[in-house]
Amino acid sequence: MYTTDFETVKRKDEQYIEPTYARFPVGIASGNGATLTDFSGKEYIDFTSGIGVNIFGMNDGAWKEAVIAQVNKVQHACNLYYTQPQTELAELLCQKSGAKKVCFSNSGAEANECAVKAARKYNADKYGEGKRYEILVLNGSFHGRTLATLSATAQPAFHRYFSPFVEGFPSFDPNFESFLAAVTEKTGAVMMELVQGESGVNLLDFGFVRQVEKYCKAHDILFIVDEVQTGNGRTGRMYAYQQFGIQPDIVTTAKGLGGGLPIGACLFFDKTEFVFHCGDHGSTFGGNPVCCAGAASIVKRLDEELFAAVTRKGWHIYTEMNKLSKVSKVSGMGMMIGIKTDKLARQVAERCIEKGLLVLTAHDKVRLLPPLNITDTELEKGLKILREVIEE
Ligand code: PLP
Repeated sequence: MYTTDFETVKRKDEQYIEPTYARFPVGIASGNGATLTDFSGKEYIDFTSGIGVNIFGMNDGAWKEAVIAQVNKVQHACNLYYTQPQTELAELLCQKSGAKKVCFSNSGAEANECAVKAARKYNADKYGEGKRYEILVLNGSFHGRTLATLSATAQPAFHRYFSPFVEGFPSFDPNFESFLAAVTEKTGAVMMELVQGESGVNLLDFGFVRQVEKYCKAHDILFIVDEVQTGNGRTGRMYAYQQFGIQPDIVTTAKGLGGGLPIGACLFFDKTEFVFHCGDHGSTFGGNPVCCAGAASIVKRLDEELFAAVTRKGWHIYTEMNKLSKVSKVSGMGMMIGIKTDKLARQVAERCIEKGLLVLTAHDKVRLLPPLNITDTELEKGLKILREVIEE
């Protein structure tokens, strides 16, 4: 039976769900914008947006309307038939990014799987199967939890227990010399996050990224950007790559795209437009009409006005945190921010909960991913708590 008693929910969770998460002691019952309410009625300012998913917060009217309208028409049609929300969303994504084609999936990891397959196919078609199958990845990267994306995740902590991993993901450090040393005749692609989220919100050096992109263009090596976390307005542009003045061949995205429903997308630009043919890729749920209708209502609102607000609010957080004596580093871009304090990040997050604020952690940093439309009042309320906790 459904219950809103926190202890009962926690007990059932412990009894029936594999303990793969170090959950915080909060049950989310409802919310409005960037204010969430737990089972006891206590309110929290939300600086997490469900790890970058609810980019227009809770109870977003336009998204709810689009989702409910689609539920009342068609909740699912397999990919053997045409549906309107899927084509509308694909068109919007292409218009906003300059991409030529889209492949839909259900998550970030699956969007990356799609990119990996596409890179292998592009190279197999052009250079012969098994010749240029390697995809270079950055040390500290995070690309997902499936076996191939875990193999592409160059962090030793993720590489326990699950061997053998998928072959073909050599890693390099974020400098051009290390990149050059990793390139071989087997290199067919490079994949990177431009702001590494999970490993501590590390913004890559613009010059380094441009050098790699230039080298890739000159050597027909595909340049793949993982925008699962950085995409959909998070950094103050539609995609982070637009801040770097580069043009990837493939971009993957998910999280904020669906506004709360599971969807991922792999975007193909000029070079990769025709890489897949019938039967090369597929997914039962990928491009589900309800998810696509919700996502279209999100993507339509990702405009210059929103990007300017994200840049302003992100900069405000950045400068306010930098003022604190117990903060040694603030990193990131737009409203994707990492804060290194002299306390353990988990300790900061736990203390914030007591005071009514939800924050994330990433490696040794406190990580903030607030809803992009957080009001200035909510933002100030959250920052006040965070300041108090860091300075305690
Ligand atoms: N890529 C990046 C950069 C991510 O941050 C994540 C998730 O945190 C993923 C891929 C995996 O996405 P998902 O959890 O939707 O599979």
